[in-house]
Amino acid sequence: MPAQVTTYVGLGANLGDARNQVLRAIAQLQTLPDTNLSARSSLFRSAPIDASGDDFINAVVQLKTRLPAAELLLALQAIEHDFGRLRPYPNAPRTLDLDLLLYGNQTIASTTLQVPHPRMTQRAFVLIPLLQIDPLIQIPGHGAAHQFLPAVADQVIQRI
Ligand code: ADP
Ligand code: MG
Repeated sequence: MPAQVTTYVGLGANLGDARNQVLRAIAQLQTLPDTNLSARSSLFRSAPIDASGDDFINAVVQLKTRLPAAELLLALQAIEHDFGRLRPYPNAPRTLDLDLLLYGNQTIASTTLQVPHPRMTQRAFVLIPLLQIDPLIQIPGHGAAHQFLPAVADQVIQRI
């Protein structure tokens, strides 16, 4: 059996009943095979950064999984699909976005999956919920996550 890996998934929604979608998606993540949800951040409200539309509802969860990273990504994409995620244009408003932020201490660079998530150090809506779960979390190749907070201090985010 593959070893269990601690992984982090970022959730975001800004179309429809965003808060409800994020909560239902967290419940869906609890049903993934060979995976346990081990921690969950608060919900946060954030202003769109690279995206358009309404404010986002965001959260981060910690999963302990035996799924390989590529399989976990496929499972996340299947959940996005279940929630009616469309991709009409880049950064369009979304019913649900699930990003694989960290997968153990691994660095992954395939055509379909980059881990750590390439933009996570620049986004308060990732860093703040992630640090709420683990204030000492390290980002492979980047060091301690908390050192990136000053650079995102101007991004509007509120715990709800
Ligand atoms: P974004 O989240 O950047 O707005 P999408 O959710 O539409 O964009 O993702 C676009 C593509 O990003 C996906 O098809 C997926 O293959 C790729 N991708 C690469 N690395 C990751 C990752 N760590 N987590 C999620 N998707 C990723
Ligand atoms: Mg995404």
